Amino acid sequence: MSMEKSSEYYNVADIFGENVFNDSVMRERLPKKVYQRLKDIIRGGKELDLATADVIAHEMKEWAIEKGATHYTHWFQPLTGVTAEKHDSFITAPMENGKVLMSFSGKELIKGEPDASSFPSGGLRATFEARGYTAWDCTSPAFVRQDAAGATLCIPTAFCSYTGEALDQKTPLLRSMEAVNKQALRLIRLFGNTSSQKVTASVGPEQEYFIVDREKYLKRKDLIFTGRTLFGAMPPKGQEMDDHYFGSIRERIAAYMRDVNKELWKLGVSAKTQHNEVAPAQHELAPIYDSANVAVDHNQLVMETLKKVAGRHGLQCLLHEKPFAGVNGSGKHNNWSITTDDGINLLDPGVTPHENFQFLLVLTCMLKAVDIHADLLRESAADVGNDHRLGANEAPPAIISVFLGEQLEDVLTQLISTGEATHSIKGSKLETGVKTLPDFMKDATDRNRTSPFAFTGNKFEFRMLGSQDSIAQPNVVLNTIVAEAFAEACDVLENADDFELALHDLIKKNATEHQKIVFNGNGYSDEWVEEARRRGLPNIKSMVDAIPALNTEKSVKLFEKFGVFTKAELDSRVEIEYETYAKEINIEAKAMIDIAGKQIIPAVIKYTTVLANSISAVKAACNADVSAQTELLTEVSALLAETRNALTKLEQITEEGSTIGEGREQAVFYRDHVMAAMEALRAPVDKLEMIVDKDMWPMPSYGDLIFEV
Ligand code: ADP
Ligand code: MG
Repeated sequence: MSMEKSSEYYNVADIFGENVFNDSVMRERLPKKVYQRLKDIIRGGKELDLATADVIAHEMKEWAIEKGATHYTHWFQPLTGVTAEKHDSFITAPMENGKVLMSFSGKELIKGEPDASSFPSGGLRATFEARGYTAWDCTSPAFVRQDAAGATLCIPTAFCSYTGEALDQKTPLLRSMEAVNKQALRLIRLFGNTSSQKVTASVGPEQEYFIVDREKYLKRKDLIFTGRTLFGAMPPKGQEMDDHYFGSIRERIAAYMRDVNKELWKLGVSAKTQHNEVAPAQHELAPIYDSANVAVDHNQLVMETLKKVAGRHGLQCLLHEKPFAGVNGSGKHNNWSITTDDGINLLDPGVTPHENFQFLLVLTCMLKAVDIHADLLRESAADVGNDHRLGANEAPPAIISVFLGEQLEDVLTQLISTGEATHSIKGSKLETGVKTLPDFMKDATDRNRTSPFAFTGNKFEFRMLGSQDSIAQPNVVLNTIVAEAFAEACDVLENADDFELALHDLIKKNATEHQKIVFNGNGYSDEWVEEARRRGLPNIKSMVDAIPALNTEKSVKLFEKFGVFTKAELDSRVEIEYETYAKEINIEAKAMIDIAGKQIIPAVIKYTTVLANSISAVKAACNADVSAQTELLTEVSALLAETRNALTKLEQITEEGSTIGEGREQAVFYRDHVMAAMEALRAPVDKLEMIVDKDMWPMPSYGDLIFEV
């Protein structure tokens, strides 16, 4: 085996986490006392002191320098949807001998002060009050990232304003994890659990993405500027089925995936499954689940890595929710469960009757939480790109419902096996045999791929998320609404004279009152839309209509009760979301204007010139029939005129939109008027693409992009 060859093969166990300042590195390198203290801090038992931070910072720096690191950065997630970082090198002022020292203090580890004025704050912090702080999150391990910029020590941090308001994704996430921890501990204590010390929300996100050829990508300004195609006719059927092609696609993508996995493993991201998705050129990657906080950070790393590695392979990764109209979009499935520090998954049916009733309480609390706060869950999955996937023309309805199906049957079967309860399945009803339980409607199929919120054995899978969005907010909402349902249950049960009786009553009450959120049928059908309306379930079709859920009285009460968001923080997020919506659509509109005006119209004019010349040339040469050319010319000219008019209209309407003040009114205008004008421009252009000579069309087609990777 040649040297080159052997370096291509490696043992995953050897490289896994090699660039992470993880528990084993800390145990090895930190003085025992400091290590113990840090563990206590991570567990939430103690506060971090500067002396401890100094020791940790020093060791972290030494370790990072061994990995080649020259800089460190506080790595954080402002409300821009992507991560932010400001790099500082480790060097200190040169000494007398002209050499430099490499230093990193505890203060530098725990607190950063980026010039925060240019991050979105939704009015929480005026631009002249630029002060914002990043604070070390010791629950998510630091790592060294190696890339073209060299090696950098990345320290996961939270990002807050001078007055402590959250300006990021992580702060509310950590707060919500504390909330669900506290209430879940209360709940399990009621069932006699005295050993578990902590309950953690665990998350495993499945990430979908598209891969296209980078050279072709670079010829599409729409993809470059907006991440999605703003024009593009559907490819003719059949061309995707070429076997030879398929072989070469797999080689190239496989090499890419291999590289992605290696990068992620080095960063301690447990990339586990990968496969092709429904659409051509679409793929999926899922890591093994981790604590919600680490999972959120790792998902950012997954997205960054997918993009970065693609470049090395001459590929481009598209994370947009709907890069191609008429082709399946991309989402994320957020698998969520809650587990104690001694390994008890509260969504696991368990094996003793005791635990089964605990499970039934947890399950029915979740039904209650999801039913009451369906609007918030829907909102948490909203981003501009996801509007094409939820409630839109080609998309399933945006109704939140819960699938229990066969998985619940398993849960209840286990109840029988303990001898505590019996059940029977009759017709389409699941009769539990537990008197206190209502009979659930049961679906005959074992899996339901159309449910937005599905129970899958020992976890819930929230399937509405967009592929490019942070998964933080959905988990903030999940943690908090479940904390509320648990708290309300505990309030009742802690004061009950007869615990068993009160428990039975409560399970029944929760299940009965919130059964309307359970739906096991086809969530994509028109009948369901009708049925959901009858049940009074919200069907919120666009991000603009989802946003108000964030700061309703109900939402403010919920989030303030558990210290997750203040009203001011919620108001600021509402503002940011409206701004983001209008801004992104504005960029799309401008990109369309640019492409139509500078690329498409000139190309079509060239084509009409060729046609016209051909007509006169044929006429001059002989008196043959030129009706085909003439008809084509007429048709193309008409479409060209339509394009030109639509372009003018879009220019006007976009101009008008940009003069409206930022906020709801502007967002509504962009959705109702600018988007409509964009569609009106796209329609004739897509027709033209089908007619105009392929060699003259100024950009690669859908077929070129999707099938020729
Ligand atoms: P599917 O059949 O839906 O693909 P998988 O078993 O592949 O389900 O799991 C998908 C994701 O769910 C993975 O990231 C996995 O680690 C995660 N997952 C599995 N069990 C749990 C759990 N108890 N809590 C949270 N996430 C989980
Ligand atoms: Mg899945």
